[in-house]
Order: sequence, then C-alpha cells, then structure tokens
Amino acid sequence: QDKIIIVLVGSGSVGKSCTALRYIQSKFVEDYDPTIEESYRKMVIVDQIATMLEVIDTAGQEEYRSVRDKNLKIGDGFLVVYSIISTESFLQISSLHQAISQIKSSKNFPTVTTGNKLDLEKQREVPKKDGEKIAEKFSSSFIEISAKTGQFVNDAFEELIRKIRKF
Ligand code: GDP
Ligand code: MG
Repeated sequence: QDKIIIVLVGSGSVGKSCTALRYIQSKFVEDYDPTIEESYRKMVIVDQIATMLEVIDTAGQEEYRSVRDKNLKIGDGFLVVYSIISTESFLQISSLHQAISQIKSSKNFPTVTTGNKLDLEKQREVPKKDGEKIAEKFSSSFIEISAKTGQFVNDAFEELIRKIRKF
C-alpha cells in the first residue's frame, strides 16, 4: 500500500517518544512531555520503495481505553517497546500483544518487539534472551535499540515496514 500507519505502544517512560523523534527527526529530545500524544508523517524510502508513513506516538492513555483501541485499530503495524533497564516495562509486553490481537481479532499482525535504552547496558535488567523469547512467542521480530545514540532505530522501523508490506 502507499500509506502505512505505525503505532508505538509500551509502558510510560520506556522511550516511545524519543524513538519516534529519533526516527522521524534524527534527533534525541531528552525531556519530551510524557503526556503528549503525537503523530508524524514522513515519506520514507525502504528497499528503494517510497512509502508515506504515519507514526503514532501513544502516551499514557492506558486509562483511556477508547483512545488506545482507536490507535490499535488503525495501526498497520506496531512497534512494541520496553526498556532493557526495566523489568516492569518488559512484563507489560505480553498484555500489549494480547490487547492488539484482541482489537485486530487476529493473532497475526506485523510487530517488532523493541528493547530500548541499549546504551544503558550497565543498568540492564532484561536479558536479551528474554526479549527474543517473548518476541518469538508472539511471532514478532526482535531488536534492541537506543533512541539516545540512534543505534538500530532505523533497522527496527525498516523491519516493521517490510513486514507490513508483506502482510
Ligand atoms: P515514553 O514515555 O515512552 O514516551 O518515554 P520518553 O521517550 O519520554 O523517554 C522517557 C525517558 O527516557 C526520558 O528521560 C528520555 O530522555 C529517556 N530515554 C529515552 N530513550 C532513551 C535511550 O535510548 N537511552 C537513554 N539513556 N535514555 C532514554
Ligand atoms: Mg511519550
């Protein structure tokens, strides 16, 4: 398709906004307002094919089910984000995958499960193996990234765009 919608989901402060800004604007914003839900449009070229991309950065609306469900409904693919320095955020991953499959009425939808804050290796709480395992369980791709340094952020989005195109 010529337009793709990617929705970022994950617990608060895992780095969803920083990841979106890193990919869309190639910059790191240290203190982005945690309550802002933003959407970005950008023409991207992946594998020599141009696509109009919309990225929806969700924000703390776990309580506002209707808003969350609307985003899950319109998403063509999902970047499911946790932080490698937060076991708590990792434990949310299963319920996020489940929430998406419930809305989509299917277990089959494009996702990339993403462990952010790779630059904070010294504070790591979640082993890479655990991330790989949960991703496999939900037929998701897996990648660890750093929104701060930019490491592997493009790879995560490009992998997701490829999966959406093939879907
Ligand atoms: P959100 O609530 O998921 O949107 O999280 P934010 O993008 O607002 O980030 C939450 C906090 O984590 C902020 O203080 C960011 O500066 C910080 N942060 C986000 N990504 C990274 C990263 O890759 N590395 C480091 N060291 N800090 C990050
Ligand atoms: Mg945010």
